[in-house]
Amino acid sequence: MVPDIAHFEQTADAAVVKRGRSLYRKERVTQFSEEDGEIRAVVQDIEDYTVSMELSPDGVIRSHRCNCPYDEGVMCVHEVAVLYMIREKQKQAAHQTNVTDVIAHMKTPKRALWEEALDELLAQAPKGREAQIAPVQVRTERAYLHVEHQGDRLVFSSNVQLDPAQQSVPSPCIIAKSPTEYVLIPLTPYEQQVYSTLLRLGSVPKEAERKVKELLATIEENQL
Ligand SMILES: [Zn+2]
Repeated sequence: MVPDIAHFEQTADAAVVKRGRSLYRKERVTQFSEEDGEIRAVVQDIEDYTVSMELSPDGVIRSHRCNCPYDEGVMCVHEVAVLYMIREKQKQAAHQTNVTDVIAHMKTPKRALWEEALDELLAQAPKGREAQIAPVQVRTERAYLHVEHQGDRLVFSSNVQLDPAQQSVPSPCIIAKSPTEYVLIPLTPYEQQVYSTLLRLGSVPKEAERKVKELLATIEENQL
């Protein structure tokens, strides 16, 4: 059976494995080099012995040689020591890859908060409005949400105080229709969420406008 790097202990003699591991732990494996699966190392024992191995990419040990006089069994202690070294290097390489992944993930620009908030709201936009709508003419002192252009931004203003604990707009809320006239509309939970999100956004960056308009259109559509 051809041993592989993950299971070489099972193929070698137990005493040989123990002694090889001990050599590895005592840092007797030196001059380690690896290139395209060709491994070379010098193991310091009674003398310095040179170990060479050939490893396939999937970890199968294709060949292993040592110039010591004890290379009679499946493997000698020097080869075992080198195998521990290889396995440790592979672990480090795998860990390095993970660390690189994490760093790459951290470098990925985070989505803007407005984008996340609006995306979420758009995703859960109801298809049709189920609540009964009773438009009422009311005075300007009543609650309103006003959306307007200021420079290159959409700015939201309202006389509704956000509940600091709930971060929600009290229902019912009113959409500004004109400077003098408002229409009272009972809000669905979805709309309340939209309004509170818009109010929290305050003013949205230019690039968010498309999504905001999409949202407002969704609400208006639902109110018809
Ligand atoms: Zn040997």
